[in-house]
Amino acid sequence: MPTESASAPAAPAAPSGNVLVDLKRVRQAFRKADKGEHVVLDNVDLTISKGEIVGLLGRSGSGKSTLLRIVAGLSAPTSGAVQWCGRPVTGPCEGLSMVFQSFALFPWLTVLENVELGLEALGVPSTERRRRSLEAIDLIGLDGFENAYPKELSGGMRQRVGLARALVIHPQLMLMDEPFSALDVLTAETLRTDIIELWGEGKLPIGSILMVTHNIEEAVLMCDRILIFSVNPGRVAAEIQVDFPHPRNRLDPAFRQMVDDIYARMTNRASQAAASRLAGHHEAPPTTMATPLPEVSTNLMAGLLEEIASEPYNGKADLPHLADDLQMEADELFPVAEVLQMLGFADLADGDVKLTDAGRYFVESANDARKRVFRERLVARIPLAALIKSVLDERPSHRAPASRFLHQLDDHMTESYSERSLKAIVSWGRYAELFAYDDETEEFSLDDPG
Ligand code: ADP
Ligand code: MG
Repeated sequence: MPTESASAPAAPAAPSGNVLVDLKRVRQAFRKADKGEHVVLDNVDLTISKGEIVGLLGRSGSGKSTLLRIVAGLSAPTSGAVQWCGRPVTGPCEGLSMVFQSFALFPWLTVLENVELGLEALGVPSTERRRRSLEAIDLIGLDGFENAYPKELSGGMRQRVGLARALVIHPQLMLMDEPFSALDVLTAETLRTDIIELWGEGKLPIGSILMVTHNIEEAVLMCDRILIFSVNPGRVAAEIQVDFPHPRNRLDPAFRQMVDDIYARMTNRASQAAASRLAGHHEAPPTTMATPLPEVSTNLMAGLLEEIASEPYNGKADLPHLADDLQMEADELFPVAEVLQMLGFADLADGDVKLTDAGRYFVESANDARKRVFRERLVARIPLAALIKSVLDERPSHRAPASRFLHQLDDHMTESYSERSLKAIVSWGRYAELFAYDDETEEFSLDDPG
């Protein structure tokens, strides 16, 4: 769909003129505190052409946001070539806009002012600015809320403002970083459907969309092409063309099959990374201090273990199938299964989750024994848990502030991951009675010293 762009040069007619983004052999490494380096992206090739919606699908921490920042020209990779409309990128790209997971609105500006902001930066005259902003607000379903402030809006409406602000500049490429993940299920679904409809009707003044998500169904629902990102280091492990016509039906067997296939690939990649596929046995890479821990409750873990152990699964279940049975989104189930794998209670391979001996023991045990085996697993397999325990053991006071561990985690991951990882370990450690944690003083202590 050809669009007027506020800033981009006229596109050449040659076939190569269809390419908006071209990344070659992009590598991104961050220096670690201990002098080593953490390779986040390795050898990433990526091309985005005009008129397509491309999905970037990968687990938490696989480098998706990092890659988006590089595409947007917000940060330069350690090495590799980045081109935007045929030219090397040296700074923020024009003709490109970004929608964030966290909305990123200015609370002291109205809806209209928030949307106008993007045009101001481009030097569009004020009457033109107003006209285009009202048009974008109208298009995205916020008519009547022009003068509202973000705090007066629901999450779904705030994200609509985020979208209006991104599309008001009529970008050649709109980047979306997990745009629906902060919304509740229904709101997210409505917004997705609206976007797809507007896109299908050619009403969005946007050339192409690159969307990051960790939600497989979302990717299959919206995208023309899906790139599956592997973890540690992030690279494009597979590319999938999605040719189903819109509107797509989640219940269509071909749709389900594709979701299942992608599952299988993602779980398989994870296990291959360990390079330990001896005798068909798949093992996940060992958890290190750099592994972000997902906030999964121990209740949910126990519930899932029990479910897998019982009929009709008897110890082995197909993940998407299991999700259906539990009336959960397959993507909600995935982190739970991942944690079970981290703890050695289950193995993940080819889209199946299978109980290990430890998992079976857990299910068959009473509460005390469950806690004990959980405690042993935490210390043996989760380095952060082992670290907290040993610091508490060593200190005469048997106490340590959360900041002690947050700082150390910050050397390995971004702040929000550190905080989430710490929250996860607090709830797991409490359950296992490995240590206690005081929410008020933000202090760890030994659960029962002596
Ligand atoms: P995703 O968006 O796929 O969840 P990110 O791109 O946010 O992943 O992060 C990938 C990895 O890169 C994480 O381990 C994160 O801690 C690390 N990382 C990201 N930005 C930085 C940075 N500026 N310095 C050090 N490490 C970083
Ligand atoms: Mg991210």
